[in-house]
Amino acid sequence: MSKRDYYEILGVDKSASKKDLKSAFRKKAMKYHPDRNPGKEAEEKFKELQEAYEVLSDDNKRQAYDQFGHAGVDPSSGMGGGFGGFGAGGGNFNDIFGDIFGDIFGGGAGGGRRSQTRAQRGSDLRYVLDITLEQAVFGTTVKISIPTLVTCKSCNGTGAAKGTSKVTCDMCHGHGTVQTQQGFFAVQQTCPKCHGAGEIIKEPCLDCLGQGRIKQTKKLSVKIPAGIDHGDQIRLSGEGEAGDHGGPSGDLFVQMRMKQHDIFTRDGHDLFSTVPIDFVTACLGGEIEVPVLDGKVKLKIPAETQSGKMFRLRGKGVKPLKSSVAGDLLCKVEVETPVNLGPEHKTRLEAFGQSLDDGQNHSPRATNWFKAVKDFFKR
Ligand SMILES: [Zn+2]
Ligand SMILES: [Zn+2]
Repeated sequence: MSKRDYYEILGVDKSASKKDLKSAFRKKAMKYHPDRNPGKEAEEKFKELQEAYEVLSDDNKRQAYDQFGHAGVDPSSGMGGGFGGFGAGGGNFNDIFGDIFGDIFGGGAGGGRRSQTRAQRGSDLRYVLDITLEQAVFGTTVKISIPTLVTCKSCNGTGAAKGTSKVTCDMCHGHGTVQTQQGFFAVQQTCPKCHGAGEIIKEPCLDCLGQGRIKQTKKLSVKIPAGIDHGDQIRLSGEGEAGDHGGPSGDLFVQMRMKQHDIFTRDGHDLFSTVPIDFVTACLGGEIEVPVLDGKVKLKIPAETQSGKMFRLRGKGVKPLKSSVAGDLLCKVEVETPVNLGPEHKTRLEAFGQSLDDGQNHSPRATNWFKAVKDFFKR
């Protein structure tokens, strides 16, 4: 059976533009689409139409056709090598027709999906970093090691062996999808050979086995700015997992976790500290030394200081990330009961106790408390 002229099939002349071809194909495809016209004849016409459009809409194929006629594009003639065949397994219809069928039939088989490359951005990574209070307050640089996927150096992430490169997939001709004919229906599938990438690796890189990335423990220096707090994150752009198939790398998020400190606890930009003082200093007053982050300072204890009293040392807290004003250090004093008392201590304390019995109220808190207890039982 001799083939009809492609231009004739589409009803256009040889000078038709791509746009003309497309609209001509649309019109005829509507008319002969097997979904609308069951029957052998319509199916044949539709296939003929597909073939004509497939050739004429491709510049190279159109040129070959113009020059050599059907022999220039028909694989069975032995001259059109590399152009691929039609029908089942030919596969290269999809991207040409997909958008048109999508327009006409609202998606479905052959609907306007474009071939997709499989280049994917690498995953973001999270690293929890334990830091000391001093590191957080003054800033530091820490070295961390993270097990991750890095771009293979041997192949620069392409997955192809050194000196070779990826080649266009011969099954889908780079489209990433193939179409199979099942009766009247054209079913579009991801190309099973290249898995949608449109390219295949002929000779895989031996270091990454064609994956383009390899598992490696990456060592990084992370600069911790002064004032950072528990839960804060530092984002290191591009230091996450390497991208797949040449995609961009993900980011690395370093999250701060504050180690417990022996002396201070932190609440935002304030620091808290509990300071034990001896019984005599609490009674008579005096000066004690308290630790601050960068050394120590003197703290004046007034006479008759009660246990639990809070002293505020202004500006001895933390200077937060986005502020130039440091917080305060809050010192809570705890009066310590003396231990390891000898006979002499005891004698003196007994005498001291008796001396308190002078008709004055030396224990206002205890007095108030006993009064409250008495009132409570009276009810
Ligand atoms: Zn490699
Ligand atoms: Zn393929």
